[in-house]
Amino acid sequence: MPPSCSRCVSPRVINLETARKLGTATGALAGSLKGAYVALYTPGRLPASSAHFPLSRVAVAVIAAASSGIAGAAAGHQMVQHLFPPGEGSPWLCLGCGHAFRVLD
Ligand SMILES: [Zn+2]
Repeated sequence: MPPSCSRCVSPRVINLETARKLGTATGALAGSLKGAYVALYTPGRLPASSAHFPLSRVAVAVIAAASSGIAGAAAGHQMVQHLFPPGEGSPWLCLGCGHAFRVLD
């Protein structure tokens, strides 16, 4: 049962722990797709010697996707992390007024 906002008493609050997990996951996914897309569809990114081997391009795309995914996950994590209020307890964010607060379990 989520608490209501301590400032505006709105019941529309989200748990920031959940938001951080979602942000990390979606950031990783978005980063992976972007990295793979750039590696696959940007000409001239590969050395000329490997251009004859389609598998190499796929391998580069996989590596690019993995590294971009890590960067994306870190970005998503950071994005939500700075919303966290200091202190103990479960972090919540009010969607009504944007107030972040913690509730001790
Ligand atoms: Zn509020």
